[in-house]
Amino acid sequence: DLKPWSHPFLSGLSDFNEIRQGEKQTDIISEVKVGTGAGQATYELHTHYIEELDLIRVYALDITDRKMAEEEIHLLATTDSLTGIANRREFTAMLEREVERVKRYDTPLSLAMFDLDNFKRVNDTFGHDVGDSVLLAVTGLVKKSIRGADVVARWGGEEFMVLMPESDMQAAEKASEKLRLAIAGHPFDTVGKVTASFGVAAFEPQDDLNSLLKRADDALYRAKDKGRNRVETLTAGEMPSK
Ligand code: GH3
Ligand code: MG
Ligand code: MG
Repeated sequence: DLKPWSHPFLSGLSDFNEIRQGEKQTDIISEVKVGTGAGQATYELHTHYIEELDLIRVYALDITDRKMAEEEIHLLATTDSLTGIANRREFTAMLEREVERVKRYDTPLSLAMFDLDNFKRVNDTFGHDVGDSVLLAVTGLVKKSIRGADVVARWGGEEFMVLMPESDMQAAEKASEKLRLAIAGHPFDTVGKVTASFGVAAFEPQDDLNSLLKRADDALYRAKDKGRNRVETLTAGEMPSK
């Protein structure tokens, strides 16, 4: 009871007749994964139809090592090594895509930027490693608190960003307040209490990536200025004129 077409190498050959009739290009390149878990291998398949012999020939190249190296490089380039969340570059790329999307579809998009309060003191008092563990714990709290469509990233040292693709200003403010409380109420190992200040901005029609970022940053600055451990929002109309 042979089932040749169920073999992964042949999975791309469902269009057998198309290949034979030359309706498809003669060298079809595809990738197929075989196996699962640690034993998974990736092959690059080259499929040709040889007319004289009425034969379809498939070359399979094992590209597992190359694939793994590529995935490793991708991970290093897009994530923050301490926390494992998106890094600044990846976040900017995602934000760019989201801004393009909301300009087309006119859906809400908000941005929350937050910065840990007096974090220098945490490092000075307890050491850099304890500071790092706080950054990790904060990341965990944020991941637990945000919605599925939201994205959290490490923007800089103790500065984070949350992209909220389906939230208007009101929803983003509420979500940020929830986050602020989750951090302020968490008993951090060794350190005890840690707080964060939040700046929230919602996309407005005249916005681009930079004006949105700038407004979240200005709102955060205002939260620091007003005493920290608080959420501030800023609309384009409230922005101080230059
Ligand atoms: P503010 O409330 O105004 O934000 O005060 P702050 O002390 O948090 O601000 P400041 O910018 O003066 O200091 C930020 C500190 O964050 C400085 C640096 O020691 C610490 N920091 C930045 N990145 C890291 C990191 O990766 N690990 C650790 N442990 N500390 C970091
Ligand atoms: Mg800080
Ligand atoms: Mg800072």
